[in-house]
Amino acid sequence: MHRELFRRAAQLAAEYLEGLPARPVGARAAREELMAALGGPLPDRGEDPVAALERFARAMDPGLVANAGPRYFGFVVGAGLPAAMATEWLASVWNQNVSLNALSPAGAAAEEVAIGWLLELLGLPRDCSLGFVTGGQTANFTCLLAARNEVYRRAGWDVERDGLAGAPPLRIIAGAEAHVSLFAALRMLGFGTARVESVEADGQGRMKAAELRRVLAGNGKGPAIVCAQAGNVNTGAFDPLAEIVEAAHGAGAWVHVDGAFGLWAAASPRHRHLVAGADRADSWATDGHKWLNVPYDCGIAITAHPRAHRAATTASASYLTTAGGPERNPFEWVPEASRRGRAFPVYVALTTLGRDGIADLVDRCCALAARMASTLAGAPGVRVLNEVVLNQALVRFGDSDEKTREVIARVQRDGTCWVGGTTWKGMHAMRISVSGWSTTEPDADASVQAMLRAAG
Ligand SMILES: *Cc1c(COP(=O)(O)O)cnc(C)c1O
Repeated sequence: MHRELFRRAAQLAAEYLEGLPARPVGARAAREELMAALGGPLPDRGEDPVAALERFARAMDPGLVANAGPRYFGFVVGAGLPAAMATEWLASVWNQNVSLNALSPAGAAAEEVAIGWLLELLGLPRDCSLGFVTGGQTANFTCLLAARNEVYRRAGWDVERDGLAGAPPLRIIAGAEAHVSLFAALRMLGFGTARVESVEADGQGRMKAAELRRVLAGNGKGPAIVCAQAGNVNTGAFDPLAEIVEAAHGAGAWVHVDGAFGLWAAASPRHRHLVAGADRADSWATDGHKWLNVPYDCGIAITAHPRAHRAATTASASYLTTAGGPERNPFEWVPEASRRGRAFPVYVALTTLGRDGIADLVDRCCALAARMASTLAGAPGVRVLNEVVLNQALVRFGDSDEKTREVIARVQRDGTCWVGGTTWKGMHAMRISVSGWSTTEPDADASVQAMLRAAG
């Protein structure tokens, strides 16, 4: 029974993966159609598992987006390395509860080894603390939670004991082009978005360090958190992190870096210069499911202040004590208690790629983004709006919002590749993000040709 069920799942998965290069990249069916295929009354009696699996896979297929394939350039989405996907399967079957070391020594050990390697790859101090969460937004949340509580503690206020009511004001400072998820995290932490002091950004979306110095000096003293960014979601640009850290630390502020995808530049000798100074920040949020290409979901929250980190996220109860051993308990570093073994696929992604493979993955994506941007920029009526410093390119057609929207819609219908739109400096643009391990030069070229056809 098990064997038949899992063999069938493996077949369906292999067929899906093999079909990816030829499949239209966007979904073929919309929500209503998919719900109709799934819907009907709640069954009274259970169905045979193999039949249920087959029927479910068939119903879902037209609604699947082929971001696991080589020509998906929307948002910033990793393709999923096959070895990491296979590991994710095993992890599901193992069904470990990776909260306490006692609940899964395997899960705890995989985390500890992966943590050491991740810190090394990202160029961060080896004594940092790290928690595996669901994504970049939750990583931002976790880091800023540690930041909030620590900065308050230094100001003589114990949030963990007394909460936020009656707390002194805390300054939150962020670049004008900070990611939307940073504001979501701040809101969940009790900081209204209107309270965020915005620092002017330059034409590429980089926070201006001189403006930050002015803001820090201008609005009086007090506990503060400065939120910087490694990798703008539109342009890929990096805030000047060394200058930001120096200015913020000079003013006694905590520096948080949102590096959901951009922090991975640190793993490439060729792109490492972009994150210079990042290692002196106080916390960092990044994703495994973006550039590392582990399957969804995997976010990574890192701080240089393990005591503050753990104090902010741990819980204690008599039944949770684990004989007082020195071992690390995974749940103490994340907002969740019970959770899956997120480090299992991370570990296998790191061992199957290796240091060189990860650097190569980053460099290859950047080179392909540059290649696509340069071909597009050479075509009549096409403009690239950003300096392509990383894996992101913004492209505008006919210097018109309407034309650009139309080209994006046509590209999505055509199905050769998938791109989304954005608004940059008041102009609508096509957004190209090359973040998948499997994209090749022929994939990039075929996609550019589809874009030019749609524009022509
Ligand atoms: C994607 C992204 C996030 C949010 O990450 P999720 O994994 O979607 O939660 C945050 N910041 C930046 C810069 C991003 O690109």
